[in-house]
Amino acid sequence: MNLAQLMARSARVFPDRAALLHGDRALFTYRELAERCARLAAHLTSALKLVPGDRVALWLTNHPAYLELLYGVWWAGGVVVPINAKLHAKEAAYIVDDSGAAALFTDADLAEAIDREGVPLAALRRSMVVGTPAYEAMFAAPPEASMAPEERAADDIAWLFYTSGTTGRPKGVMLTHRNLLAMTACYFADVDPVGAEDAIVYAAPFSHGAGLYNLPFVARAARHVVPVSGGFDPAELVELSRSVGRLCLFAAPTMVRRLVDHIDASASPADGFKTIVYGGGPMYVRDIQRALEVMGPRFVQIYGQGESPMTITALGREHLAAAAHPRWQERIASVGVAQMLVEVRVGDGEGRALPAGEVGEVLVRGDTVMAGYWGAPEATAKALRAGWLWTGDLGAFDGDGFLTLKDRSKDLIISGGSNIYPREVEEVLLRHPRVREVAVVGQADPEWGEIVVAFVVGDGLAAEELDALCLAAIARFKRPKHYRFVDQLPKNNYGKVLKTALREVLGKEAST
Ligand code: AMP
Repeated sequence: MNLAQLMARSARVFPDRAALLHGDRALFTYRELAERCARLAAHLTSALKLVPGDRVALWLTNHPAYLELLYGVWWAGGVVVPINAKLHAKEAAYIVDDSGAAALFTDADLAEAIDREGVPLAALRRSMVVGTPAYEAMFAAPPEASMAPEERAADDIAWLFYTSGTTGRPKGVMLTHRNLLAMTACYFADVDPVGAEDAIVYAAPFSHGAGLYNLPFVARAARHVVPVSGGFDPAELVELSRSVGRLCLFAAPTMVRRLVDHIDASASPADGFKTIVYGGGPMYVRDIQRALEVMGPRFVQIYGQGESPMTITALGREHLAAAAHPRWQERIASVGVAQMLVEVRVGDGEGRALPAGEVGEVLVRGDTVMAGYWGAPEATAKALRAGWLWTGDLGAFDGDGFLTLKDRSKDLIISGGSNIYPREVEEVLLRHPRVREVAVVGQADPEWGEIVVAFVVGDGLAAEELDALCLAAIARFKRPKHYRFVDQLPKNNYGKVLKTALREVLGKEAST
């Protein structure tokens, strides 16, 4: 089944429902939006000679055109290649070339960046800047007698999802129509039911989780809101929560913290927010507790990765709210339980299931697991082994089926033969009220193999008080040997801390 059928169905059943808003300004109903998708598809097919399976790159900031582009390409049987708008033009060019995109849609600012950098994009021969008269002209001709979405098999590729690339070149994860339909079903089952009055607001990049989550909202003919800022602005979100209401959003943990700070400081009501789904990186216990205190039970956590999009485990709002549960503290530090359509296993080196309490690699099997990496059979064979996706994340189940992530296997520190999970040390350091952010990494050491180093962001902090905090909470060997007080932590374009960059800093210092 083609994902574009979701749009066609919503338009047939609820033609007059509001589909798309720019800020609080209504742009299109479902009938109008679906018609634009069909017209775009007709243009792609007739003028650009797009054939099913062809890739179309989308390199634009969160723009109202994003939805019609996604569904228009699917409608024509194509594959979308959304590219993070924060990438350098050269990085975007790499993805356009790697995917072999037949066409590129971009926005005015990014088109200028392409010109400025003189990037040779093969696909530029067929590029189009959204919002221009030439772009709008594509929608002028009516599609031939209500053209239906192109037939697609469930295992055909729908979305090439380029990994955020914390190391090396980004790889194109091949997500099929089946993968994204299964993700959508799991959203309803394990994350949040969606009603017609709900509104998803795209405050994080469309090219990543926030954009993937458009699907459950199209399926339920709910509203889609593109913020006028095109990004994450806590004050704007609070405004939208008032004017649009029933806001749902996907936010990285750092965004949740900023939103909570803003709501707390401005004493704004939180009742215009329906659901905030967080994930994509560790949410520390201190931060989720505060978020719950300030905004109430509006949160759901998901754990996923591009290779099993948004869908490995979920920690539902009932678990987050159950403060009286004897294991609440452990549970809110966990990533929850396996989502409905996937099997999740903590495996040993051979992939055999480990008993509860033991740490191993997280393995996933089910309909959300990618078809492989685009044009990279070796990387695919490494990630998909014996029927399982090997996530590269380390974790352990408890006896109730809640998974706690330790760290990515490459972030694990081995010091004097003992395993140290940076996340555990980070949780302790964050208990200090003046520690704003922290990242713990290993530094090569001739005596210990590795030693623990903490990079800390905060005001007026002394190593002694942090050391005392650690001594009171964790084994002595896990304490950082060194503290580095820094103004900020290096992050990638999705706001994830780049531990590789921190290790490089330490490595360079050691070799000079
Ligand atoms: P990406 O493919 O860019 O979405 O990155 C996926 C990775 O982010 C996962 O493999 C995890 O290492 C991390 N991640 C995702 N969700 C969570 C979560 N809820 N808690 C901790 N780490 C997470």
